[in-house]
Amino acid sequence: RPLVAQSEIRNMSIECAKVGGINLAQGVCDLPVPESVIRGAEEAMRRGSNIYTRFDGRVELRRAIAARQLRDTGLDADPEGQVVVSAGATGAFYSACLALLDEGDEVMVFEPYYGYHIVTLASLGIKPVFVTLAPPNWEFAAADLERAVTPRTRAIILNTPSNPAGKVFSREELSLVADFAQAHDLFVFTDEIYENFVFDGLAHIAPATLPGMARRTITISGLSKVFAITGWRIGYAICDPEWALAIGHFSDLVYVCAPAPLQLGAARGLEELGPDYYQGVAKDHQRKRDLFCATLRDIGLTPHVPAGAYYTLADISTLPGDTAKARAMHLLERTGVACVPGSAFYQGDTGETLARFCFAKEMKILEDAMRRLRTLP
Ligand code: GLN
Repeated sequence: RPLVAQSEIRNMSIECAKVGGINLAQGVCDLPVPESVIRGAEEAMRRGSNIYTRFDGRVELRRAIAARQLRDTGLDADPEGQVVVSAGATGAFYSACLALLDEGDEVMVFEPYYGYHIVTLASLGIKPVFVTLAPPNWEFAAADLERAVTPRTRAIILNTPSNPAGKVFSREELSLVADFAQAHDLFVFTDEIYENFVFDGLAHIAPATLPGMARRTITISGLSKVFAITGWRIGYAICDPEWALAIGHFSDLVYVCAPAPLQLGAARGLEELGPDYYQGVAKDHQRKRDLFCATLRDIGLTPHVPAGAYYTLADISTLPGDTAKARAMHLLERTGVACVPGSAFYQGDTGETLARFCFAKEMKILEDAMRRLRTLP
């Protein structure tokens, strides 16, 4: 399988549009955008904040990000020098790879993985090395990490809550990774874009807050998912000032800055929305998770019930087809519901019996999708 190729998430969205189906493939949250976020952006445009921002973003947003991180995760970052606003978390990850890694380096990645991580690394000539998370609880052991490390290893990617498995790394697991990163002098690149979607009373822990991890961790997240503004492209990296300067430099080279008025809209949302908003969003997704997983169970597509994020990986081996792609296409043709073939998240064959469904849909749409899925013979 070629490493640098069009994302299967993108392919399935295109196939879905062709048949006018319901897109549970792409991880788009279609909840209403909070009013304060819209108003903040609109006022910023009218007041003339339509020009480039500083290379690391508007100070209002950097301050709001730092304040929210301190409140919610205890991560203490200086908005002058440690926060870089990027075009989505994707922009922060790409810029961090450009800034801190070299061709020929190796980076450890947990599998199942988010394809963009792998393809970004591959596009820069960096080799991903996989550590498999074992279902049903997506576990790994210290020995698995030791087996994967080589003298060329420079970093490890920690995606928590994870896409596609919805794994929420526990403090014990994060400590294991932290000890390992310190022993081998590795960077930890996080992807915490789903940090606000954690279920069943679990808590999101920011890896940078573990003892000894502040300097080696690049904390990456964004507002796309929690404010339902995936098209705005507002993300960020938080890290040591030395790395922040380099990451900001590369992000400036690729796209100069994230959209200025939209940065201010996101800042307004962070300033005005309280814990109620974030708890409400998590509760809403947990309810959808439960409804959707029950539907999958009823139709014989056994789901892995996620602890966080807003996807479920389901066993689609009962559907006709030789590959996950063929099975996913069969499902789309028969029900008009699009998912992502599990092969998009695995190197080997493990993914061929799996598919990822996004349940972060408006209730009416999710209900329609569940009704259609129940028509499967
Ligand atoms: N992160 C989302 C997903 O996993 C969207 C990816 C994308 O379209 N770039 O589906």
